[in-house]
Amino acid sequence: MSEFATEIERRTLALEQPFSIARGTATDTEVVFVRIEDADGLVGIGGAAPTRHYGETAATVEAVLPDLLEIVEAVGNVHRIEQIERRMRESIRGNPAARTAVSIALHDLATKRLGIPLYQYWGLDPTETLESSYTIGIDETQTMREKTEAARERGFGTLKVKLGTDRDEEIVRTVREAAPNVRLFVDANEAWTPKEAVERIDRLAPYGLEFVEQPVPAENPEGLKYVYERSRLPIAADESCLVSADVPKIADRCDIVNLKLAKCGGLREAIRLIHTARAHGLEVLAGCMTESNASIAPAAHLAPLLDYADLDGSLLLAEDPYDGVPMPGGEIDLAGLERPGTGAVRSS
Ligand SMILES: [Mg+2]
Repeated sequence: MSEFATEIERRTLALEQPFSIARGTATDTEVVFVRIEDADGLVGIGGAAPTRHYGETAATVEAVLPDLLEIVEAVGNVHRIEQIERRMRESIRGNPAARTAVSIALHDLATKRLGIPLYQYWGLDPTETLESSYTIGIDETQTMREKTEAARERGFGTLKVKLGTDRDEEIVRTVREAAPNVRLFVDANEAWTPKEAVERIDRLAPYGLEFVEQPVPAENPEGLKYVYERSRLPIAADESCLVSADVPKIADRCDIVNLKLAKCGGLREAIRLIHTARAHGLEVLAGCMTESNASIAPAAHLAPLLDYADLDGSLLLAEDPYDGVPMPGGEIDLAGLERPGTGAVRSS
């Protein structure tokens, strides 16, 4: 007899506005929700945010989830998450967003059974929080100025600007003019060559940027090293760092790693990645895809372990079927979360 009732739901979520990065433009995002209900009627909610860049689509997630849920059933205990994550990783290669969705649902269910929020399960202080950046996608320069002004009006004090165009300096100058006092991150999403990256970073440094994310392609680790050794600004690795085992390989060529749940395959692995990065003297940023609170809320609970957060994925959606951890003006309000679990609850 089955211990758990499970449900898989694939959804296409419209974005508030078309969102462009160096690799392309999206107008919507396909996600998959998974719900695991135990014999007491408690429900754990998880979300998958698959991206083709890492070999996944909503269809592959949907196809692999029954096999992953069979592992949950075989273990039969929602508190044995380390074992479940290991068995999922060993028996289902790749598919990190799908595995993460199950891990999130298990953490949500386990902490609901205990009646505590996820940060408490991890022994974290909810007041040790930080502010998430809000991302300005690539657009006409004037439109990027307007988006920056709108973000300032919504109270965001930290912005991340997508680069990788032939007018990167003009974009950063314009955003800086529109928001002189915000903290500013930039992300080239692999668009530059190593030489180009060093030149551009030289020109961008005077605009007061905190770091430059993924200047060169992940397939060019020597290029990343070349940039890191010459850069006037800290370098963050995103596409170059997926799981904890990647950290030692890039530790001598970046300052910051960008942890994303959709890349790493689970929340236990996410915490392992954070501590591996710390052991290598690196700082940690938690990022996200354009995705629902069903998969962003658990990342917000990691806030006390982070140096930077870019968890604005739900804010970029026209409508999110789930509410999550409140983030007024980007401030991750973990202490304001008055429910157990990840905090993800159905809103529509
Ligand atoms: Mg990035």
